Amino acid sequence: MPKLALFDLDGTLVRAGGCGRLALNAAVKKLYGRDNVCAGISLEGCTDKQNFSSAYTVARGRKASARDIALISKTYLSLLPAEVEKAAREKRYFKLPGIDRFLAELKKRGVMVALGTGNLKGGAYLKLGPSGLAGHFECGGFGCDGFTRLEMLKAAVRRAEKLAGTKIAPAQIYVIGDTPKDVSAGKEGGYHTAAVTDGFAPREALLNAAPELLEKDFSDMRPWLVWLGLERDPKGVKRASYIFPDCGIEHVQFGRTGMDTEQLRLMKKKRNAKLAKKVF
Ligand SMILES: [Mg+2]
Repeated sequence: MPKLALFDLDGTLVRAGGCGRLALNAAVKKLYGRDNVCAGISLEGCTDKQNFSSAYTVARGRKASARDIALISKTYLSLLPAEVEKAAREKRYFKLPGIDRFLAELKKRGVMVALGTGNLKGGAYLKLGPSGLAGHFECGGFGCDGFTRLEMLKAAVRRAEKLAGTKIAPAQIYVIGDTPKDVSAGKEGGYHTAAVTDGFAPREALLNAAPELLEKDFSDMRPWLVWLGLERDPKGVKRASYIFPDCGIEHVQFGRTGMDTEQLRLMKKKRNAKLAKKVF
């Protein structure tokens, strides 16, 4: 059975200089005359449909219909290319460190790599354009596949299963994101979850979401490969989940304890090894 890695886009693969926010602001301004509609909305980790719906409510004071969302989507997609191009030109567009190498390594090791993003499909590929990463993804789940992140992730899994010609068990599915919403949607689906702190969510919020693995970015590939079950756990334990190898504390099953690597690191830093041992 293949392993499937599902990557969020914004803040996980790239930081696109706020081009999505700018394009949504411009779309709502064009359609309804409302300036800077995103100022009061937390967009991170939400699907585009959720964001368009919130923006409509802020601009018009009522709930959006499917037709309203379709109109915002169309206008947004027409304005996004210019914003992406501008972000790249003004050097506000960055790839997460190590992502090229990591994606290439996954392919080499036979892991299916797919997108699991709240962006509309068209918007996702526009945003990925300057990164040159699009070719790594065999398929994806997108913001047009559903209202919630879990619906989007499930669509990605269905497409990957079709390509693989076989069912993929949740235990073989690895969700990688940058916000607590990415983590909670992955957990809701019964998938493995990991997050990067180089994206858009505060570290504390990610700690509370308790992904199995929390890393700054992808520049050190090893913890990611151990988490994916592709490299031996340094302690010799066979498992699919990555557990903190450099810590004196033995292996911890995340999700059961609610602890994660960063909390363990902090404990270690504060020389609270005794307390940590008690916890486990
Ligand atoms: Mg994100």
